[in-house]
Amino acid sequence: DIEQNVGVCWRCKTPIEFINAKQWFLKTIPFKKLVLEMSNRIKWYPDFMKKRLEDWVNSLEWDWVISRQRYFATPIPVWECKKCGNIVLAREEDCYVDPTVDDPPVDACPKCGGELKGCEDVFDTWMDSSISPLYNTFWKRDEEKFKKLYPMSLRPQAHDIIRTWAFYTILRCALLTGREPFKNIMMGGFILSEDGTPMHASLGNVIDPLEIIEEYGADAFRCYAATCSLGEDNPFRKKDVVRGVRLLRKLWNIERFVSLSIGDKKPSKPSEFIDIDAWILTRYSKLVKRCTELMDSFNYSQAMKEMEKFVWHEFADHYIEMVKGCVYRGENLESVRFTLYTIGFGIMKLFAPFFPHLTEEVYHQVFKKFEKEESIHISKWPEPILIDEEKEKYGEEVKKFISAVRRWKSDNGIALNAPIKASCTYAPEDVINIFLRSRNIIIDTLNLPREHKFIPGSPEVEERIKDIKLNFAKIGPLLRDKSKEVAKWIAEHKDKIIKKIETDGDITWKDIGIADLEGSLIREGYIKVEKEVKIKGEEGNVINLYDAVYLVIET
Ligand SMILES: [Zn+2]
Ligand SMILES: [Zn+2]
Repeated sequence: DIEQNVGVCWRCKTPIEFINAKQWFLKTIPFKKLVLEMSNRIKWYPDFMKKRLEDWVNSLEWDWVISRQRYFATPIPVWECKKCGNIVLAREEDCYVDPTVDDPPVDACPKCGGELKGCEDVFDTWMDSSISPLYNTFWKRDEEKFKKLYPMSLRPQAHDIIRTWAFYTILRCALLTGREPFKNIMMGGFILSEDGTPMHASLGNVIDPLEIIEEYGADAFRCYAATCSLGEDNPFRKKDVVRGVRLLRKLWNIERFVSLSIGDKKPSKPSEFIDIDAWILTRYSKLVKRCTELMDSFNYSQAMKEMEKFVWHEFADHYIEMVKGCVYRGENLESVRFTLYTIGFGIMKLFAPFFPHLTEEVYHQVFKKFEKEESIHISKWPEPILIDEEKEKYGEEVKKFISAVRRWKSDNGIALNAPIKASCTYAPEDVINIFLRSRNIIIDTLNLPREHKFIPGSPEVEERIKDIKLNFAKIGPLLRDKSKEVAKWIAEHKDKIIKKIETDGDITWKDIGIADLEGSLIREGYIKVEKEVKIKGEEGNVINLYDAVYLVIET
């Protein structure tokens, strides 16, 4: 017995037997330069994928075998003379023909009069798919459409078929038309199984997209797909589908608020915007500009990230919270309604390529009665609407203040919409002036008292000791069975100790008297001091929100 290495079928592992056979070829070697030239005219996304085509072309040493011996494929439209081997080609006007069934265009071999036999081979599948751009642009079927549509704007495909689909398409279209088949080529990646291995039926790790769609919906599934960067293989991540569900729900709720707030006429542009409208419209316009650039370079994953960030962390969390008061009390309606309409509709357009179902539904429910287009998917891509750098700064300042107060509320276990008894805000004069321009909005959003004062400058504050706490982790090992007694003594003399610390800055073991020890308690970490900031001579608590911005809370 001799052991040998043999090639096997990748699927069923049966050894492969090589058979010599006559085949049809398409000349490719003479056209290497042509393909490389055409490839240079095409924009590749990502750029490095072009190198893969170039390496392939440069390494080619034989022509393309275009015939296959299989049952199902496109027949090769030729007849062969049984006697002399002469080839008779089908007439173009007769195609499509199947030479095993159809008659040849001539009765006998034009060379020797011999009998003609239809070719039983079929084409390699890439012979058909390599002319898809010609088919799609009505080549030889409608000259006018062809002129308008060819070269196509985009070839979307995966990186595993650069050497086949991309290469053969460029080759054949260049040979038939003298031009490149498309202006851009975009390489998607593969979706791998959750552990990062390629999906194979034989490995049992195939994720059925229909099951995911059934459970979470198609748009949520697309949310995951859109997180996969161009040209990169990505493990399937269910958490990104779940993230998609949350985002879709958020968008739905935002649009419901928009639809309830805009009234029954299409809002027209106001003569002037209130600050936070100018702010959010500027933020939105910058988003549109950035996303347009990203989408133009097929960087859809980054575009979606930016849209998502804007929707959650600027529009929903801040802007909508800020204008709820205006909407409920009918203030600044002209400015607010126009802004809500513009951004509410604009983000639907931005998300339309990602979430075609949700955006279309929202369009029909909310915007279609004011717009011309039958579908959001044929509406115009949004354009920047306002860039006002100064108001953008104002809005950011207001947002910063509101966020800081809300953070303080949540840190202190206060519900975000609960009223707080805050009598005034101190801040540098320029900041106070910005706050005053949006006074009602700040008061409404934070549920501050109507008479809340915004005061320029900083308050005269004093620090007071609110409480002292024993650090038992240090005191225990030091005093052992005496620690309880010491703790009791300290608790009973707390006021005295605080006074002592306020005048001397610390307290020593000697001051306590019952422990025969050296050293001081604060410096060495035996007690911790809790301080509070008060306005001199007043009882209210002063919270330093950030920088030189203070909020005074009545106690
Ligand atoms: Zn097999
Ligand atoms: Zn012949």
